[in-house]
Amino acid sequence: MVKEKLYGKTLNELIAVTKRVKLPGFAARQIADWLYKKEISTIDEMTNLSKKMREVLSVDYEIGLSEPVNVAESKDGTKKYLYKVLDDKYIETAFIPDDDRATICVSSQAGCKMGCVFCMTGKQGFQGNLSCNEILNQFRSMPEFGRLTNMVFMGMGEPLDNTAELLKSLEILTSEWGYGWSPTRITVSTIGLKNSIKEFLDKSRCHIAVSLHSPFDEERRALMPIQGTNSVRDILDIIRDFNFNSQRRVSFEYILFKGVNDSPAHIKELARILNGIKCRINIIRFHKIPGSEFESPDMAATIRFKEALNAKGILSTVRTSRGEDIQAACGLLSTMEQNKSK
Ligand code: SF4
Repeated sequence: MVKEKLYGKTLNELIAVTKRVKLPGFAARQIADWLYKKEISTIDEMTNLSKKMREVLSVDYEIGLSEPVNVAESKDGTKKYLYKVLDDKYIETAFIPDDDRATICVSSQAGCKMGCVFCMTGKQGFQGNLSCNEILNQFRSMPEFGRLTNMVFMGMGEPLDNTAELLKSLEILTSEWGYGWSPTRITVSTIGLKNSIKEFLDKSRCHIAVSLHSPFDEERRALMPIQGTNSVRDILDIIRDFNFNSQRRVSFEYILFKGVNDSPAHIKELARILNGIKCRINIIRFHKIPGSEFESPDMAATIRFKEALNAKGILSTVRTSRGEDIQAACGLLSTMEQNKSK
């Protein structure tokens, strides 16, 4: 019999579990404490629950952690872990150390249905939503778990296409009964799905990063086909109308493709549409993926693009490329693993 996993349940869900197996209500907080603060891996370690209570709980439940199945390590210290999910699929999770910060980049789906033409995960197609257990297991089971300072949802999948599980994982990460992290340590990256972006903004206090890649709808639609129903204007209107507190950051991701989205007209239009939004643009040089006709601009051109935006009053930075020697562009490692098992 497959047991239900306790790890990844919110406090309310744990209360429902205690009701179901007829444990006293206070046991839910004790279980949350063991799961998220004391980091146990078996029910038997929950020693402030009586032996009888642990036995009752173990009939239908287990903790439900699983180790990564493979790792690739870059000479710059970046690591990419491969986790098995949804029985026979693979997802990637990156560990990115940087001075006193250590960031985990988590996946929210196996594959992705957004079909961005520059993305290896997009080429895999959609294979399934990760459960909250599978999202947070990437964090808890990463060998560097104790060193992590920041989390970004920029791995495989579109987090706002899996909003319910995303929000549960953010609740566990930021609640006082969970990991107690400040929401300012977490950034959720999205292509800007109109129907769920507002829900995410309303129900969480984490930072948001919107993948823009072009200020022009038609061009953006060619790069990211799914955004057909989400015009740049729709997304920016939602952001402009939302009352962000001073701690919460809005950023825009901009992958720079040589000769595609790097012209003076792009700079001018970006400055126009972002006027009045307190934000910054993260410029990312395109990581070449197999079969792609896109070219990566050189560093000098990338810096010129950034400086031109800064000169127009749009705070811009160039994201340092990490782990290029271990196939850091998302989706490459898992694609290789899946091809092996065909
Ligand atoms: S870039 Fe993100 S949203 Fe687009 S296909 Fe890849 S994983 Fe999905």
